[in-house]
This record gives sequence, C-alpha cells and structure tokens, in this order.
Amino acid sequence: MNSATEGATLTPPPLSLYVHLPWCVRKCPYCDFNSHALKNEMPAERYIDALMRDLEVELPLVWGRPVQSVFFGGGTPSLFSAAQVERMLSGFRGLLDIVPGAEVTLEANPGTVERDSFSGYRDAGVNRVSLGVQSFDDRMLEAIGRIHGRAEARQAAESLAGAGMESFNLDLMFGLPGQSLETAVADVQTALAYSPPHLSHYQLTLEPNTCFHARPPSLPADDESWEMQGACADHLEAAGMVNYEISAWSGPGRECRHNLNYWRYGDFMGIGAGAHGKLTEASAQTVRRRIRIRHPRNWMESAEHGMPLAQEREINPQDRVFEFFLNQLRLRHGIRKADFSNRTGLPWLAVSERVEEAVRRGLLDEREDLLVPTESGWRFVNEIQQLFLP
Ligand code: SF4
Repeated sequence: MNSATEGATLTPPPLSLYVHLPWCVRKCPYCDFNSHALKNEMPAERYIDALMRDLEVELPLVWGRPVQSVFFGGGTPSLFSAAQVERMLSGFRGLLDIVPGAEVTLEANPGTVERDSFSGYRDAGVNRVSLGVQSFDDRMLEAIGRIHGRAEARQAAESLAGAGMESFNLDLMFGLPGQSLETAVADVQTALAYSPPHLSHYQLTLEPNTCFHARPPSLPADDESWEMQGACADHLEAAGMVNYEISAWSGPGRECRHNLNYWRYGDFMGIGAGAHGKLTEASAQTVRRRIRIRHPRNWMESAEHGMPLAQEREINPQDRVFEFFLNQLRLRHGIRKADFSNRTGLPWLAVSERVEEAVRRGLLDEREDLLVPTESGWRFVNEIQQLFLP
C-alpha cells in the first residue's frame, strides 16, 4: 500500500444473475461460446434441479442483496419450454430477493421457437427476449452455418414484435462471408421494420478453437467492413437508435440493464455450466471471480453434490482497475468516476496520472463526474484500455 492505493473502501455494487443453458441444435462454425450440439434428448429437468443446487452454493456470498436482473444465456435457452423457464424463475425467487420489475431476459434463436411461444415465455415471467437473427439473407445465414433461413428469421422477429414483451433485442452480424455493403444495410433495414427497442450489431470475428478459425472463410476486407459498419450506423441513427455501447444500439432508455451492470463493473452471480461470476465481499474487502465447471455433464454431476466450481480466485486491485476501465470504456456516455473507488477499492489517485495521459492524448474528455471518450478515443478504444493494463 502507498498513498496512491490506500484509503478507499469496496462497497457491493448492484447484483445480477446469469444462468447458462448450454445446448444448441447444432454448433455454429464461428461460435466460441460454451455451447454444445444436442445429440440426444435434452436433460432439461435434471439441469434445472442442478441449477437450484448451484444457486444454493452462491447464497452465503449474497445474503440480503437484491437482484436487479436475470439473464438466461447460452447456448440456446429457447430450447427450454416456457413451463421450464417458469420453474427456474420461481425457484430463483424462492432463494433470492429479485426486485419487482427486474429485467428478465431470455436468449432465443429462430428455428427453435414456435409461433406462440414468446407469449408463453412472457407469461412465465420473461420480460425481454434477445433473438439471434444474425441476418435476414439466406445466403449469409447458410455461409455462417445457422440452422434458420430468412423465412424463420422473419417469422420469429414478427411474432416477437407482437408478443407484448416489455422489450426485445435483435442480434445482427456484419462482415459475413461474401457480404456486400447493400446486403448488410438491407439486414439493418429489415430489422428496423420490426421497431426493436434494442439492436446488437457486431462484426464476425474468427475466434480461436472454432471451425472458422481452422478453415477461415473469405471475409470482406477491413475497409469494406468499416464501410458497412458506418452505413449501417447511419440507418440506425436515422431511426433514432443510440449506439450506447460498442456493439449495442437502443432507443432512449431502452438499454439492456443486465449488460449495463457488467459494463459498469457491477456484481453478478453466474450459475450453470461454465458460467462466470464476480462478487464483492465488503466484510473481507475482496472481489472474487467464480467460474463453474465447463462441460454440462460434469457440471451437473458436481453441482448435484454441491461442488459446481472449477475455479475461484481473488481479483487483485491492479486487475480490478484494468477490468473497471476495460468494461466502462465500452460505454459511449463514458466512465462514472464515482463508481471507481467503491468498485475497485482504490482511490482515484491510483489512476489519475493515466487518466491525465489519456486526456492529454485527446482520447478522453473530463466532464464533471464523467470521463467521456472523444471521437478518436471511441474509435481507438483499445489505446485507452492499454493505459490501464496491470
Ligand atoms: S446458436 Fe449461438 S450459442 Fe449456439 S452454436 Fe450458434 S452461435 Fe453458438
């Protein structure tokens, strides 16, 4: 400890719950998530029982703390029925203080949801669905190995838009094999026709340990993808959407509250195969990263015996600083300085020189309690993040 690193106290930030549901109909060739092609019947009921045991393990670390949001991610959570989702939610409510009006998101994929099932999920307590459309173009969908085509994408988006959810998101990708500027823009225009309160728009990247990494398809050149992104952004802005995070767009006030909590370096429990969690313990003045066993079968067997963890470690103060900036710098409206000390346990003095350096280089603007990326800081956000490496 020295004067730059002492004198601040960790205070538990808002808490959310992430639930990993790991199965998909088929593994997409670009996917590096912990998702597994379903070979036999999905052991849904056994998995749900194991989730409840898993959550019990987490409870002593979160006693008395309200939960602001729940997110069912995957994998393809929409392979679970509305009745199964309802069972999970009522089990979680029995164990946790989930606040009234909490955002409850379920990820769904076209081709795995029947026409009326969104209203079933809504009745089960889901108030936000994130639909993995990726493209409305048959050729693009085939090129990235999705199980659905244009017709299923349109039908799912239409029934989601009419299901009376409080909010929903459409996921779109760009920079796809053989994609032109026109088809990328057409995808955004088609998506906007459903008036989504939220839209995620991200570039296809070739991640290690994927089929595409081993056998790369031919992708648009960087400058072509850059142009696509710019042209799509123009259409999204013209429709009144705000690019509040690197890949996320929303109407005013329709940001994803669950993801905002990650990006603001809040706390989250992660349950289910391979899920990650981050929890602040004020009494011990520590922040812990907790990671579940990755393979669904191994995780289920271990969770049933109350031992779902693969790894637990303390996040040291320098790593907290990096993670804090890495996450908050994803947000266009900037970094809330007031969050820094209570989420990292360090005083502002610990980073003030590095912040001044970023301001000097024209990457950040200081505006009262906010540090806002400038246009060039937003474009070269990695450059700012590097300043905060441990
Ligand atoms: S549907 Fe989503 S989670 Fe499943 S394999 Fe494809 S990209 Fe991965």
